[in-house]
Amino acid sequence: MRLFWYRLLIVPLFATLIAAFWLLSVGRITGGIASGILFIVCIVLQSKLVKCSYCGARPGLRILAVWTLLLDFGLSLADVILLRRCPNCDHPLIEP
Ligand SMILES: [Zn+2]
Repeated sequence: MRLFWYRLLIVPLFATLIAAFWLLSVGRITGGIASGILFIVCIVLQSKLVKCSYCGARPGLRILAVWTLLLDFGLSLADVILLRRCPNCDHPLIEP
């Protein structure tokens, strides 16, 4: 169930990111900042949602860190959708 919510959070994540840039480009600063805050809340929720029951690693945080570093959000999206095993210990992420 947690993996399901983890994948579903991609939708508000991209929606708030697009909304933030759009509102800022139109000149509505407060709306843009509010969307930016919502975007950060989604990122934090997503990284905290999935935790490996075997080694305690947080794969969501790792995926986010790696692809933010390489600035490739397309591959980050693919990784989130295809996440089934812990990238740290290769243990399957079983639903609790
Ligand atoms: Zn693990």
